Amino acid sequence: MSLNTALLKQQVYINGAWTDADSGQTISVVNPANGESIGAIPYCGRSETARAIEAAQAALPSWKALTADARADYMHKLCDAIMEQVDDLAVLLTSEMGKPLAEAKGEITLGVKYIRFFAEEGKRIYGDTIPSPWPDRRILVTKEPVGVVASITPWNFPNSMIARKLGAALASGCTMVMKPAEFTPYSALIYGVMADKVGLPAGVVNIVTGDAPAIGEEMCENPHVRKITFTGSTRVGKLLAANAGKNMKKISMELGGNAPFIVFDDADLDKAVSGAIASKFRNSGQTCVCANRIYVQAGVYDAFAEKLKTAMSEQLKMGDGLQSGVTQGPLINDAAVDKVAAHVQDALNKGGTLVTGGQRGEGAGTFFEPTLITGATIEMKVAHEETFGPLAALFRFDSEADAINLANDTEYGLACYFYSQDLGRCFRVMEALQYGLVGVNEGVITTEVAPFGGFKESGIGNEGSKYGLDDYLNIKYSCLGGLGL
Ligand code: NAP
Repeated sequence: MSLNTALLKQQVYINGAWTDADSGQTISVVNPANGESIGAIPYCGRSETARAIEAAQAALPSWKALTADARADYMHKLCDAIMEQVDDLAVLLTSEMGKPLAEAKGEITLGVKYIRFFAEEGKRIYGDTIPSPWPDRRILVTKEPVGVVASITPWNFPNSMIARKLGAALASGCTMVMKPAEFTPYSALIYGVMADKVGLPAGVVNIVTGDAPAIGEEMCENPHVRKITFTGSTRVGKLLAANAGKNMKKISMELGGNAPFIVFDDADLDKAVSGAIASKFRNSGQTCVCANRIYVQAGVYDAFAEKLKTAMSEQLKMGDGLQSGVTQGPLINDAAVDKVAAHVQDALNKGGTLVTGGQRGEGAGTFFEPTLITGATIEMKVAHEETFGPLAALFRFDSEADAINLANDTEYGLACYFYSQDLGRCFRVMEALQYGLVGVNEGVITTEVAPFGGFKESGIGNEGSKYGLDDYLNIKYSCLGGLGL
């Protein structure tokens, strides 16, 4: 399970060629499991980004002129090339990001599913004819690619967050400039490696790394870019949305969450515990859809806490994600560990009880133990901020109305979960929760065939599913007159 260094690209990909930053500057990339450097990537800024946009603009006419079938062929070849090396790519992803190997492989496979789904969905970009109010005219509605798309993505899913944007863009006939997170650039740069391998026309996909604010500014201000698609924090999403708005570009924003996970008295507690383990601790708590606030009804609170504690000790194993049996890899960096530690300390200062965990890991890696705290209250930071780490905080509630009010009491609206075996309650609660994604008796619900998007400050637009193409298309109305009827 050693790193295949042929996949470790140390340059950026512009117009089908590998190149350094104009300044020659680089940024080092480290393995969070041991703090060791695994390479260095170019520190690009506006000028390299402008060249990448120019290349994408030049490639646009011929890419959009291809049939959907021809674009799908390229996309399936790209997926085949990825799957041929999925084991090596998983080692690469784990080495830069930390998640356990099985999760890394699962993420890459999901990324491929997104691209294959959109490759086929691109063949179903239907238009419309609308009954005309004029006897001598006909009304046609067609859909066209928006043009050059610029994407910025985070480190927690360094492959699949790109795949669900790239798939939609390529299928729609758009070309792309992508900027991955500085902590996990290699899982993005492999799209350049694979594009080369399958002979994707130069300029259709471009990848730059480096100075995030400078790259973001060029993307938002360059007139050739017609759409910005971003996944990351609400703070940066607001900055980009404001700048893109000044230049009237389309935007899609997949932003932060603060997911409630509600366990009612009538829930199947074992299923609720399994769901909580999956939803809270996947990727060591570093997903935008991770349960952040676990609300448990008074009648089952103690029983649920006990079962969750047992499941955590039996099922969770912290360590280097490359080692077999590990389920909890390192957090991405020291700042992430500090944030979890601060949330734990804050909860304990405000009366919470530490049931298990609570400590940083030892050594050079950035680990934090899976942690369970009972007696959580709304005064605590964990009630209001995304912890983005392995802290399960259990809040007690009494009535269904209380649970709904508590769950909705946030500016976020990405994912939420609840467990109940009462059908009426399932419908009432599902409809009352102000979230884009609702898991009813399920803790992991992401799939390429369903829409993924947040309400409120969790974002704008949807990715995945048939809805995921909408943001990459312009609607054109053509009125055919003078028909002499
Ligand atoms: P982040 O700080 O917003 O970074 C995300 C991306 O934005 C990175 O590529 C980063 O580049 C870039 N960036 C940072 N500052 C920028 C600026 N001023 N202008 C342009 N780009 C800028 O978020 P993160 O901490 O990496 O990711 C975690 C967040 O993402 C969480 O809030 C999580 O909930 C959210 N997320 C949401 C979804 C979803 O689908 N809704 C999915 C995954 C994650 P550098 O890395 O180079 O700084």
